[in-house]
Amino acid sequence: MTLGIVVSSNGAVNALEANQAAIGGRWLGASFPVENFQTYTSPFGYRSSPDGTGSSTQFHRGLDMAAPEGSYIRSWWAGKVVEVSDNSSCGTSVVIESGQWEHVYCHMLGFVGQDARGKYITDRAGGMKIYDGQTLPAGTRIGRVGMTGRTTGPHLHWGLKYASQWVDPALVLRAMYAEQNRGQISSR
Ligand SMILES: [Zn+2]
Repeated sequence: MTLGIVVSSNGAVNALEANQAAIGGRWLGASFPVENFQTYTSPFGYRSSPDGTGSSTQFHRGLDMAAPEGSYIRSWWAGKVVEVSDNSSCGTSVVIESGQWEHVYCHMLGFVGQDARGKYITDRAGGMKIYDGQTLPAGTRIGRVGMTGRTTGPHLHWGLKYASQWVDPALVLRAMYAEQNRGQISSR
């Protein structure tokens, strides 16, 4: 199955044909990224600056998904952790690489630590410890929804890149649902 993803955003991505073969399968392997999902609070794309002045716009490189603090976050696809961080506006965060895709999870509970095995993020109360370089199956719990970094409420900021270019995660979720509606994907 070939999914046509068309994103027009700042010229960064024009017409992207994301062939699912690139990650070895179809959307059947994909996991919805957050448990206890409530609502989408901010879409991908240009928006007014959240400082409230309305005088500037910025590009929002992801989809904001509200869920109660402490809700588990799951890896959208099988992949390898390529970055763990807790010192940016993204807060405590993980980046996972799956073939040509990169998925980013921000504002999680916990913090970055380091031991003999390497750098990791930990959320002790949630029983989470994810190492940089670790490989994970799709649907693995990788953290919990928090408010680290720049955020006004608990949510998952979920970012997706394909071939180094930002993609609207809503398009991917829509494609996942389309397949689910054909009765082939397990519910989230
Ligand atoms: Zn966001």
